[in-house]
This record gives sequence, C-alpha cells and structure tokens, in this order.
Amino acid sequence: MELKKFDAHIDGKKVSPSNGEYFETINPFTSQAWGRVARCSQQEVDLAVAAASKAFEGAEWSGITSSQRGGLLRSIGDILGDHADELAQLEVRDNGKLISEMAIQCAYIPQWYYYFGGLADKIEGSVIPTDKADTFNFTTLEPLGVVAAITPWNSPLLLLSFKLGPALAAGNTVVIKPSEYTSTSTLRFVELCELAGLPKGVLNVVTGYGGEVGNALVEHPRVAKVAFTGGSETGAQVYAKAAKTLKRCTLELGGKSPNIVFDDADLEDAVKGAVSGIFAATGQTCMAGSRLLVQDAIYDEFVESLVDFAGQAKMGDPMDKNTQVGPVTTPPQYKKVLDYIEIAKGEGAEVLLGGVPASDKPECGESKYFIEPTVLGKVENSMRIAQEEVFGPVLVIIRFASDQEAIDIANDISFGLAAGIWTRSIKRAMKVSKAIRAGTVWVNTYRAISYMSPFGGYKMSGLGRENGMEAIREYLQTKSVWISTADETPNPFVMR
Ligand code: NDP
Repeated sequence: MELKKFDAHIDGKKVSPSNGEYFETINPFTSQAWGRVARCSQQEVDLAVAAASKAFEGAEWSGITSSQRGGLLRSIGDILGDHADELAQLEVRDNGKLISEMAIQCAYIPQWYYYFGGLADKIEGSVIPTDKADTFNFTTLEPLGVVAAITPWNSPLLLLSFKLGPALAAGNTVVIKPSEYTSTSTLRFVELCELAGLPKGVLNVVTGYGGEVGNALVEHPRVAKVAFTGGSETGAQVYAKAAKTLKRCTLELGGKSPNIVFDDADLEDAVKGAVSGIFAATGQTCMAGSRLLVQDAIYDEFVESLVDFAGQAKMGDPMDKNTQVGPVTTPPQYKKVLDYIEIAKGEGAEVLLGGVPASDKPECGESKYFIEPTVLGKVENSMRIAQEEVFGPVLVIIRFASDQEAIDIANDISFGLAAGIWTRSIKRAMKVSKAIRAGTVWVNTYRAISYMSPFGGYKMSGLGRENGMEAIREYLQTKSVWISTADETPNPFVMR
C-alpha cells in the first residue's frame, strides 16, 4: 500500500524536502507506518524563516488593525471547532492517545483562539509621568518578530495552541517544528488556519528531526523567540543555544509531580484522582502525578483500593471510546519506561501492580507498545524512580507521617511543574499549597487546565508562563517613546 506523503508547509505552499528524504510516521496501536513525512533540513528552515519574516513585515499582517487580527483568530477558532473530530483522529493515529480524550481536547482548542483573539485589541502601553520637564513619554507593546514553536508528541495541537494563541494575538509570525512522531495534525491545522483567512507565511511548518530542524531554528539569527515544550534536558540545551543570539525563550518542560493524599481526604475521590493523575494519557503528560504521597494512617486501605481500581483499567484500541489506557507512543519511550521499572526493582521498589509489557494481550491487537499500568511501593524519595521523569504509566507511592514531611518530600526534587492535594481541610489545603514549589497546585482535583489560567514550571520544569493574561507578555516587547515639547533646544552636551 502506498503511504500518504506529507510535505512541509511554507508560505502557504506544500514544499518537498530539498534532500528528497521522508521518514515514516507510525500508528502505535497497529505498529504500522501509515504516512511519509518530509525530513526537512537547513534549507527549508531558511525558506520558512524568510517567509515568516516577509509576512511579519507585510501589509496583510502588520498592516491590519489589532481588531482585525482578533477577528482572524476567532475565525481560526471556528474552523478548528468544525474540524475537531478530524484533527483528533489524526492525533490518535500518530500518538495512540485515547480518542475519548483527544476528541474533548480538540473540541476545546478553539477557546485559545477566542480568548487570545479577544486580547489582541487590548494590548496597551502607558503614559509615564516622567521627571523630565517638557517631555512626553509613552510606551507601546510590540510583537517580537518570528517565533519558533517546537512541540512534543503527547498533545501536539493543544500545546501548539498554548503558543499560537498569544503569539498571533500579539502580531508575531511563527515557524512550527512538530515532533517527528506527530507531524500530520499540525500540517492539517495550518491549512485550516489559512482557509480561515490567515495570510500565507504567518504560520509555517518544517517537519523533521529535533537535532536537525529544531536545532537549525533555535540557532537561526532571524528567529526572535523560541517557545518550546519537551523534556528538561532538551529544554536546557535549547536555552543554552538560544542564548548565543539572545533569543527569548518560553520553556515548558518535564515534571515528577507529587499527588498528596492526607488522612482526612475523601478516599474514593482521591483514588480516582491518583489514577487519573498517572494513567490518563498512559502517563505521558508533563503534569502526571507520578509521585503519590500517602499518609500513614490510611496507607494500607488507600493503596489496596488504588491497586484494585487501577487494575481494572481497560487497555486496548485507542479509537475505541471504552478504552482507558492506550499504548506508549514511541519505541524509545516504550524502552525507557521498561528500563525505569527495572531500575526501580533494582533499587528495592516492590511491584504492586503491572510492571510488565502487555502487548501479548488480545485487546492490544498488533501493537508492540503496551505496558501494564504499574504501581510501585516501598519507594523512598531519594531513589531514581522517585526523582526522574518516566513519562509513562508508572506510579510510585511514598509514605509520609506529618504535613511537614509531605511538604519536604514534595519539594525535594529538581522539578516543580504541578502538585495535587487531597484533603477535606481548607486550612491544610491553603498551608500546603503555599509551601509547595510548583507552578500549579490542584486541591481535590487533578489535570485541570484552561486557556485562562497561567501554566508553567518552577525549577527545572520550565521558564515563563503559557495561558492566561500574562502569556501574551511573553510574545511582546516594550518600546519607550520620548517626545520633546520644549520651546528651546536644551544644552546638547548635557544628558537630559
Ligand atoms: P524532546 O524534548 O526530545 O522533544 C520535544 C521537541 O523538541 C520535539 O519536537 C523534538 O523533535 C524537539 N527537539 C529535540 N531535540 C532538539 C534540539 N536539539 N533542538 C531543538 N529541538 C529539539 O522530547 P521527546 O519527544 O523525545 O520526549 C523525551 C522526553 O521529553 C519524555 O520522556 C518526557 O520526559 C519529555 N516530554 C515532556 C513533554 C511535556 O509536555 N513537558 C512532552 C513530551 C516529552 P523530535 O521529536 O524530532 O526529536
């Protein structure tokens, strides 16, 4: 069967790679290739950045009013809403996540364009009452120029929209580098944006490998900012390289988030929260609640219920609406998860559930990438399995006695993306949420996000914030304009 071919998208056109090379994109459920994607190189990056620079200067984009820009974003929201199912199916085919989750996620994505479209004509500078007589000083907030948006495979269009909503509302143009594993939904997304009226060249997509295309974008002198989501190690490399040309960076990186269950929690809710925190999306989310901290008094009862509930999770075809746990998305990720389970066992962890591949089960079809939902007990916070991000369906459980001990364990880690707290006490919730060093804290819920609420990490989990009002500032720079109102020219040899 001939595989469908996907080219790069530059200046409104499909562009074949100059080297003629394509790589296969694989459905993790069937383990079969279903498409061929352009392996772009420096040449396509140069073309895409040139197209984005031209569009940034062009009248069709920089010449329109901010209200017109907001209108375009709202049109994009409309067309994405009309095609949400199609986009969700493309994502599932590439990353194996559940259609039940991706359908909801893709239907939610238009909100980013409605919200930031609404902000486009509310970007205001200020008048500064300076200490200089006979001058008028005001500020304007201006776009940065060409933004490179580098996205991962777990939620390609959602994480892209975290970046595009504010970047476009602020008037920037963008070159997107999707993950090599999930390029197809982004290519279709950009076609749809242009059908909605977005001028050509405002969004461009260069597909290919991180070390080639991603790196070329980060190093490109005409790229003003890098908005990156991915692993902390790659993020740190991107940051160091971007520094050479003083690019701004927003980095949305990994986590090993504590999900803390206190002895006064509603245990049924907390069990569901713990399971949703780690096994939803097969554990492949940056915000996964992968370190479960459980208080002494309820430890045995809670862990028994959790293992029982998680053990009933239905694995299978991600396209089946009843499936609860799908395959791991990529072969390297599959190996990494199994390696971490072995590391944990070597460190003395006890396997309470799973811990093995599951691809031989009939419900897992031809997939080679299923792993049983895994729960590990007898874990100390100092172990590698408690400190390093696995990015898969592996939960570690750590026991604690007091509130202070829970806080200390929660904070004793290099990450700081998110945390969960399960308690019926508002005082405890307030005290612990204040003490936790993380960008998001959920109380009696987990994995809630919104276009309206800032999202980002403390420590090695990232830099800057996506979503909410402050996200737009990440895509703007301030200009201070001075106007003399003096009747006489002041002494030219003295600073005013
Ligand atoms: P990476 O950080 O390697 O990749 C994220 C994106 O960056 C991809 O588009 C990737 O391209 C690109 N990239 C890779 N290397 C470079 C580079 N040198 N310069 C510029 N861009 C680059 O994540 P992976 O997808 O490989 O996943 C590895 C780990 O990242 C996971 O185990 C997990 O810990 C973490 N992760 C975190 C996510 C989050 O939401 N915070 C999401 C996904 C992963 P390519 O795909 O071609 O390599």
